Amino acid sequence: MFKLICGLGNSDIENIKALVKLYAKAGAWMFDVSPFALAALNEAIKEENLNPLDFKYCVSIPVEGDIHGKKAKILPNKCKKCSKCVKKCPQNAIKDFVVDENRCIGCSICKKVCSHGAVKLFDKTDYFNELKNILKSNLKLDCIELHASIGDKNQILKKLKKICKKFKGEISLCISRKYFSTQEALSIIKKAQEIAKDNSTFYIQADGNSMNGANAQLTSTIECAAFALALKEGGIDEKTIILSGGVNEYTKKLCRELSLSPLAIAFGTYARKSVLNIIPHEAQQVAKRLVENTLEVDNEYS
Ligand code: SF4
Ligand code: SF4
Repeated sequence: MFKLICGLGNSDIENIKALVKLYAKAGAWMFDVSPFALAALNEAIKEENLNPLDFKYCVSIPVEGDIHGKKAKILPNKCKKCSKCVKKCPQNAIKDFVVDENRCIGCSICKKVCSHGAVKLFDKTDYFNELKNILKSNLKLDCIELHASIGDKNQILKKLKKICKKFKGEISLCISRKYFSTQEALSIIKKAQEIAKDNSTFYIQADGNSMNGANAQLTSTIECAAFALALKEGGIDEKTIILSGGVNEYTKKLCRELSLSPLAIAFGTYARKSVLNIIPHEAQQVAKRLVENTLEVDNEYS
């Protein structure tokens, strides 16, 4: 199945609604948005007269320190206005050398390309409060994903407990191989499964190379497939695994090569970039092709 990640840090409502509409019509299964964009997701599906029950709605919450919860800021006293960061930003988030926080997803590309030390990243911290507001609202919400791309397992499990106490629906834990050995990751997942035992479903999002899927390169997607395979070999049911991080059109080919049949593939940067700045009709075709390519893998293994 095809999961669309609109970007935990992305709260550009127009952009999110356009993405949701394109990928919903193309056959996506789940939409993953910032808690600040759940209302926009609800509205987008209604505006297209689609049945909300045909899709899963997910919000992502970052553990403190997770890159997905960060925002960039350009320091005007250091910036030489060379435009390197403007050209490389995958979200078109930099205008007149100022970062639009609503569009910034914290990928840190701007910081890496700036040779003048003019970019700072900081943690945006109000996601959990917004989640509390959502849980009091009547917005449709099927799943909460905890984004845990950090190396502190105690903090991950503590935050997961806090979420599971407030929400009994579907839970997804996005965990990165970057910080843990396979054995450590398996041990965290088992503890997380125990914490979420009263929730309706528990998914593991195997995160490879976070926010690195902008180009269709085999190297950017190998890590998530390898991580998912290691989890499967460690006894995790592959039908609870979602691949993410560096995902692109090579991901399904790798799954086939590895005889891996995950529940879903979660497209973020690649899916967003593929439809950026192209006319709506072409964008719809691109979205359809991406979703169909992913479904092909499902069909081959079903
Ligand atoms: S790369 Fe650095 S110096 Fe160049 S425009 Fe961006 S922030 Fe300014
Ligand atoms: S390059 Fe990444 S971190 Fe920098 S402004 Fe763009 S989205 Fe934000």
